[in-house]
Amino acid sequence: MDVNPALVAMLGYASKADLLRADLARDIYVRGGDRSAVIAAILGRTETSFQTEVSWRRKDGLVLDVVLHGRRISRPRRGEPMFEVMAEDVSARRRAERETAAALKLQSDFVSFVSHQLRTPLTGIRWMLELAQQTPGLPEETAQCLADARQSADRLVGLIADMLNVARCESGKTRWVPEEVDLAELTASVVHELRPQVEQREHDLSFEPDSDLPRVQADAKLLRQVMLNLCSNAIKYTPVGGEIKITAARHGEEMWWSVRDNGMGVPPEARSRLFEKFFRADNAHTVETEGTGLGLYWVRRILAQGGGRVWWQPAPAKHGAPACPGSVFTFALPLQATLVQGVAE
Ligand code: ADP
Repeated sequence: MDVNPALVAMLGYASKADLLRADLARDIYVRGGDRSAVIAAILGRTETSFQTEVSWRRKDGLVLDVVLHGRRISRPRRGEPMFEVMAEDVSARRRAERETAAALKLQSDFVSFVSHQLRTPLTGIRWMLELAQQTPGLPEETAQCLADARQSADRLVGLIADMLNVARCESGKTRWVPEEVDLAELTASVVHELRPQVEQREHDLSFEPDSDLPRVQADAKLLRQVMLNLCSNAIKYTPVGGEIKITAARHGEEMWWSVRDNGMGVPPEARSRLFEKFFRADNAHTVETEGTGLGLYWVRRILAQGGGRVWWQPAPAKHGAPACPGSVFTFALPLQATLVQGVAE
C-alpha cells in the first residue's frame, strides 16, 4: 500500500509509484526455500510479528539479501491482515560472511594438503634415522647427531599432527559420534600411555575417580585425545618432580573431569586467551620452546561439538606456595548416558 523513500532508493526505483507497480511475487523469493511457506507463516493467525530473510531483486536485476521485520497492525477479523514491515539490507554482511567461510575453507584445505604432503616423506626420514641409530659401533658424536635429528623429526610429526587435527576440525571433517563411555577406564588407558613421559620427568601422577562414576555419552576416540592433550600439557609445564592429579566426578547433570598440576601456572594476562588458536603464554615460551598453541584450541572446539566445555582455574594454593601455584584444567560433558543407563537397569 505504501513504501518510504529509503526502500525506493534501496531497490533502485525512480519513485514510490514505480516500486508499488513492481511485481513483488516475482522479485521477492526465499533462497533455497519455499516462499509460500514463509507467506503462510506471515499470514497465519497466531503470528503478530515475524522476522524472515528473503532475496529481493532490485529494479536493475541485482539481488539483495534482505531481512524483513514485520508487525501486524490490524486484526484479520476486520478484513485483510495488514503489516508494517521494515526491510533491512544485509547483503554486505552476508557477502562478508560467505567470503570469510570461503577463505577459511581455502586455508584449511591448504593446511590439510601441505600437512599430508609433508607427512609421508617425514615418516620415511624418521624410519631411516631409526635404522641408522641401530648401526653397531657408531662414534659417540654421530650417535648424538642421529638422536638429535630423530628428536627434531618427532617434533615435526607432532606439529603436523596438530595442524591436521585443527584443519579437519575446522572443515567439519572431525565428527563427534557419541557412544557410552566409561571415563575411569578411558582415563586409566591415557595414564598408562603417558607413563614413560611421567617417569622421565619424575612426576607423581595419580587418578582418583569418584567410586560410583556414571558413564557419559561421548566420542571415546576424541575424548581420549582431549585427555592426552590436557595431561601432556600438565606433564610439560610442570617442573621435574611435580604432582599431577586427575579427578572425575558427577556435578548435577554433568560429568566433570579435571587435571591439576603444581607447575608454572598461567600468568593473569594470558588467562582469557588460553583457548585461542596459536596462543602460548610467555612463561611457557621460555621453558618449553617447542609448541604450537593449537592443542587447547582443538580441545575447546571438539568438546563444544559434544555439548561440553573446558576451562582453566589456578590450582588451589597450598601453604607457602609461590604466586603461580599451578593449573587445573576441567572439562564438563552432559550426562544423558547415565539417565539412559539408569532406565535400562
Ligand atoms: P602448546 O602446549 O603446544 O603451546 P596448547 O594449546 O596445548 O599448546 O597450550 C596453549 C598454552 O596454554 C601453552 O603454550 C601454555 O602457555 C598454556 N598451558 C597449557 N597447559 C598448561 C599447564 N598445564 N600449565 C601452564 N600453562 C599451560
